[in-house]
Amino acid sequence: MTLSFDPDSLSFPVGHFIGGQLVAADGVIDMHRPSDGQPYAGCPVADGEVVDEAVQVARKALKDSNWGGLRPRERTRVLQRWADLIEEDAGTLARLEAVSSTRPVGHLVEGDIAVSAEQIRFFAEFADKEGSDLVPTDDASLGMIMSEPYGVVGAITPWNFPLSMAAWKLGPALAAGNAVVIKPSEMTPFTTIRLAELAVRAGVPAGLVNVVLGDGPVTGTAITGHPDIAKVSFTGSTRAGAAIMENVARTGVKPMTLELGGKSPQLVFADADLDKAAAAIAGSILSNAGQACVAGSRLIVEEAVAEPLVAAIISRMKVTTAGPTWDAATQYSPIISERQRERIHSIVSAAVRAGGECLTGGAPMDASGYFYQPTLIAGVDQDSPAVIEEIFGPVLTLQTFRDEEEALSLADHPAYGLAGGLFTRDLSRAIRLTRRLQAGTVWVNRYSRSRDHILPTGGYKRSGIGKDLGREAYHANRRTKSVLINL
Ligand code: NAD
Repeated sequence: MTLSFDPDSLSFPVGHFIGGQLVAADGVIDMHRPSDGQPYAGCPVADGEVVDEAVQVARKALKDSNWGGLRPRERTRVLQRWADLIEEDAGTLARLEAVSSTRPVGHLVEGDIAVSAEQIRFFAEFADKEGSDLVPTDDASLGMIMSEPYGVVGAITPWNFPLSMAAWKLGPALAAGNAVVIKPSEMTPFTTIRLAELAVRAGVPAGLVNVVLGDGPVTGTAITGHPDIAKVSFTGSTRAGAAIMENVARTGVKPMTLELGGKSPQLVFADADLDKAAAAIAGSILSNAGQACVAGSRLIVEEAVAEPLVAAIISRMKVTTAGPTWDAATQYSPIISERQRERIHSIVSAAVRAGGECLTGGAPMDASGYFYQPTLIAGVDQDSPAVIEEIFGPVLTLQTFRDEEEALSLADHPAYGLAGGLFTRDLSRAIRLTRRLQAGTVWVNRYSRSRDHILPTGGYKRSGIGKDLGREAYHANRRTKSVLINL
């Protein structure tokens, strides 16, 4: 497959996807390509009426198809076919994703797209393996915990991994027998529409997956406050997650899965394999130019090895592979928007004004798109905004420690607890610290996800509530009813 392509050759499906069809709508939010800043499309904004239409279509499709009441293997079969179609369609999905998002086309086919298909298969396999349970009671009774789908799930996703995030939401919700109304980010909506089209082609009943385009305040609020949305599944910032909780509380009560922000530490001890640690740490902050919820953005290193480790990391941060996301050679991503790049630069500049020093980077890149130099800042205090705020860019802060207690106290963030990394050859220390780290994921001597989809992902503290992936994501899309029959 030739991966490089001309971005002007693509057309985008501007509209909502409701009842198995694209419903054309005016693009009102201007969209610019992060790789070169060029305008290329407009995103419609679904109001309450359009959202209500999508929800009612979803309810009717659930009833007419009896999706939640099918023999579970039927759902498995259809969803596996959907995963096959996603793989077959990888070329088109990759092109749509590469133009509007920050994901280089070379990372998509074997990366985001292949992994998403794999994750959908993973959830499809749950449908006939996890269900109701009989429970022990006395002879005169039959007790059971009956497992049921919710009905219509409302899903809202961010722009940083648009296709993967949609797959994380749609896979478990559909496998568990629900319908979905999904709102992708207004900056990156097109691959979610394509995924929904492929779902229908695979045999998912039309109307079971509806995609409404729009922003948070109008479309997102209409989804989370809709009385017939039985459950909300959200991935995005902690700020938006809190706004969603307020709206849900104001308009009714419903369960929520919230996957929110992070500011994750990477702790390196003097006994670690420094070369491997440097590769993992640089890789984590360069990946998607740091625009990942789990980005390891705080380097906390034992004083004695700070110098060689920092030198090894800096040599890996000299990026030569920035370029348009539609060029197969590109490895390094642009920032999603000019506004976000300005925000990154203002936090870095403030840190420097406060006495910090950029050991590398510290400025926008001289390129046509919204690129920012990989940046390592030393001399920052624990309460500096560079250490506290989720920068969501290629910016790593450097702090040093003398002993484990100091390392842990620096690692502990007042708000976030999404992920953390530990680099040490001492197994006892690794386990001791893993137990004490306030994080939903801990990686030891690595800093990246694997393809073990059974491992759930989600945050401690204000990094979220509930989990994506793993068994937990499947169960989060079903609810239980306790039944006791008097025989
Ligand atoms: P964002 O919160 O600005 O937007 C996320 C989505 O929520 C978008 O679709 C947006 O339109 C919508 N939204 C915004 N306000 C809303 C509201 N009041 N009601 C309903 N919907 C609303 O986040 P973003 O900038 O798109 O993405 C980056 C953030 O996402 C970062 O904080 C990152 O850490 C987080 N994230 C978390 C995970 C995870 O698994 N924990 C994964 C990816 C991204």
